Amino acid sequence: MVEIGLTVNERQVMMHSCSRCDTRWWDSDGELLPLANLLELVGPAPRG
Ligand SMILES: [Zn+2]
Repeated sequence: MVEIGLTVNERQVMMHSCSRCDTRWWDSDGELLPLANLLELVGPAPRG
């Protein structure tokens, strides 16, 4: 299990990565953060 803390748009986000099954998930402020919500925080992907 690997945990990496990041700050996304001034929000503290923790990424968890399971080294055994390669599952990844994120949480923010101790609450599970669905991938869709994370992408919302990050904003639209750059184009081009
Ligand atoms: Zn696992």
